[in-house]
Amino acid sequence: MPAVILRPGREKSLLRRHPWIFSGAVQHVDEEPASGETMDLLSSDRQFLARAAYSPSSQIRARVWTFEEEPVDAEFFRRRIRSAIEARRKLGVEAHADAYRLVYAESDGLPGLIVDRYGDVLVLQSLTAGSEFWKETLADLLLEETGLTTIYERSDADVRELEGLEAKTGLLRGSISTQSVQFSIVEHGMRYLVNLQHGHKTGSYLDQRENRLRVRELAKDKEVLDCFCYTGGFTVNALAGGAKSVLSVDSSADALVLCQENIALNHLNESRQTALEGDVFQLLRRFRDENRSFDMIILDPPKFAPTAAQAEGAARGYKDINLLAFKLLRPGGTLVTFSCSGGIDAGLFQKIVAGAALDAGVEAQIVEHLFQAGDHPVSLHFPEGAYLKGLVCYKPG
Ligand code: SAH
Repeated sequence: MPAVILRPGREKSLLRRHPWIFSGAVQHVDEEPASGETMDLLSSDRQFLARAAYSPSSQIRARVWTFEEEPVDAEFFRRRIRSAIEARRKLGVEAHADAYRLVYAESDGLPGLIVDRYGDVLVLQSLTAGSEFWKETLADLLLEETGLTTIYERSDADVRELEGLEAKTGLLRGSISTQSVQFSIVEHGMRYLVNLQHGHKTGSYLDQRENRLRVRELAKDKEVLDCFCYTGGFTVNALAGGAKSVLSVDSSADALVLCQENIALNHLNESRQTALEGDVFQLLRRFRDENRSFDMIILDPPKFAPTAAQAEGAARGYKDINLLAFKLLRPGGTLVTFSCSGGIDAGLFQKIVAGAALDAGVEAQIVEHLFQAGDHPVSLHFPEGAYLKGLVCYKPG
């Protein structure tokens, strides 16, 4: 078995069961493994530490499959997949949604592999050399363990570039008609159109499921501004919860069309909703200049900082929109604000929002912390798995 020998002292993170080894920790490589091949990670005195996938072109040079000296083969992956499926079963997610995350990479002991279930279709995203090396085996196992027949691949996330992998999308197993690339999913009693080919991520933002429900519960009789509304996840829920009005803003005209279709699909009162195509940063300024105000503002922007390196610029972006939102919020109003940037942790995000309130001259309280849904779990040994955080802030009247 090829092996990577670490520099003295660089085994510490592995002893805490963190699954990544950065290139700077590597002392020496025995029998250069192929891209994605399994190899052993050894301490500087050649003690076994872990068995991992090799990523020759990435800063993250190795990702651990197992901390045991056990074979990494189809049966190994079958056990991991079964355990991930069992965790979702225990969570009871199928009782209220037919679309959910079945495998969440490092959090499920399967670095690089994301599998989302949309009805009877699995959508697979392979993000690393290791998951790519085992992709065909993983695809077969996923069908065997779920009893399903179709897998659509959406390996088109930017992070693949860092692994030296090209984007790949299309049918991986089974067959799918053109119509069924776009279909609807059900979540907490609401229907949403999903396009597996063109939708963001694997087709939709499954991670916001519980937070969409929370917005439904909070929106009654409110005048709501839904910023970065995409296909209307929060807009639909605000309307369903009895909002007086919803103004939905996004820079994508296509997303706004789907937002309208989702409102119609759920037989909601279309006359209470208005769609506005534009840049949130500019529109919030315009609304401020026009002295407009709202009872509830939702901010769910795209990832400003995929990694910690972009955190500073991202922090400015978050502060800007949150500051403007605090100004537009009526006394007694609620701000629901999110960050899905991996590079900004929950503590930093809270500080940014606090800074925004301070500069806006607003006294506000956090009344709730929001997270990604439980089918996107976070391994205690891999805190990087926690990326979505939200705050519900109340501005006293
Ligand atoms: N809230 C959505 C997900 C938001 S995704 C949901 O729950 O489903 C981020 C959205 O922000 C995308 O639809 C993208 O088109 C939009 N967007 C990105 N930059 C923007 C900007 N500067 N102004 C307005 N919309 C923007």
